Amino acid sequence: MTAFEFATAARIVAGPGRAAELPGLLAGLGSRVLVCTGANPGRHADLLASLDLPAAMFAVPGEPTIDLARAGAVAAREHGADVVAAIGGGSVIDIGKAVAMLLGNGGDPLDYLEVVGSGQKITRPAVPCVAVPTTAGTGAEVTANAVLTSPEHGLKASLRSPLMIPRVALVDPRLTLSCPPAVTAASGLDALTQCLEPFVSIRANPLTDGLAAQGLRRAASGLRAAYADGGDLGARADMAMCSLLGGMALANAKLGAVHGLAGVVGGTAAVPHGVACAALLAPVVEANVRTLRSVDPGDPALSRYTEAARLLTGRPTASIEYGVAWIRETIALLAIPGLATFGIGPEHAGDIAAKAAVSSSMQGNPIALSRSELKAIVLQAR
Ligand SMILES: [Zn+2]
Repeated sequence: MTAFEFATAARIVAGPGRAAELPGLLAGLGSRVLVCTGANPGRHADLLASLDLPAAMFAVPGEPTIDLARAGAVAAREHGADVVAAIGGGSVIDIGKAVAMLLGNGGDPLDYLEVVGSGQKITRPAVPCVAVPTTAGTGAEVTANAVLTSPEHGLKASLRSPLMIPRVALVDPRLTLSCPPAVTAASGLDALTQCLEPFVSIRANPLTDGLAAQGLRRAASGLRAAYADGGDLGARADMAMCSLLGGMALANAKLGAVHGLAGVVGGTAAVPHGVACAALLAPVVEANVRTLRSVDPGDPALSRYTEAARLLTGRPTASIEYGVAWIRETIALLAIPGLATFGIGPEHAGDIAAKAAVSSSMQGNPIALSRSELKAIVLQAR
């Protein structure tokens, strides 16, 4: 047996209506809470009004940046917060995790940030963080990193440590019912990708295999349905589980070229993360499969891709090509735009490929792709 480790949130509390347990969970973890929310905290007014602890609000209006993490930590220290609640999409949860880590360890985000910062090791526990996702996509409620954008460097980098995994993941699919169609589409494709990449990863292990396969089944039943009817609680629950399962899988088996490229694309232009993943997904699968077949037609990643195609399409005899066609059809149905819509031009492709080749997200890709292959993928994803 291959050696592996597996870490996840201390406690996962999941199911429709369970967001009502947030006040009790927070009261058990601290005495003063910093609540991170999206640009419009009114969306969760009932939930916020129910909190028992003295609370300070911190709004995260867009993609998480180093400056936002820093400002959140200042707000938390001014309030004397000893617990963090992050109620929102992946950006909000990443800021909540970053703030909780900074409260526990002191210092500035740049002290710990990989690539663009000094990359100091995070040695002390974060203060407790309760992550409450309101979109179904990133799985940030159970992952060990927070992705921050550095506008000056034009890329995204992570704060990363098992000590940053939220203390509680509170996953209530009812909170995603009001998620608009475009966000449902982009975050849903991210969730699917975050199950597929760990499933074919060179770092996969028996636990992540089970989680990723179940996540792919959930995407198959929930993704198109949640987009077609946002009020379909069953489909929303499928996608909330897909996101949660993908988060646990990726935190323990890594990701691949879709995320390696998407991180750099997101640092180059204002492309929502899920949109970047969706646009890159089919070209990456095709490039990986082509390269795997040319190097070793018996590579186990190829049978993983076949299994994934069968899980996604529900056809027990589906080929990889049939699975890729299903992905392309889904992306068209969900009206996800290409990268060119956001200003990614052919002139960016070489630079994106060079930066992505050395990114940490690339580590799980089942085969090494050359710079020219990565560049060709970016051009196809436009
Ligand atoms: Zn992702």
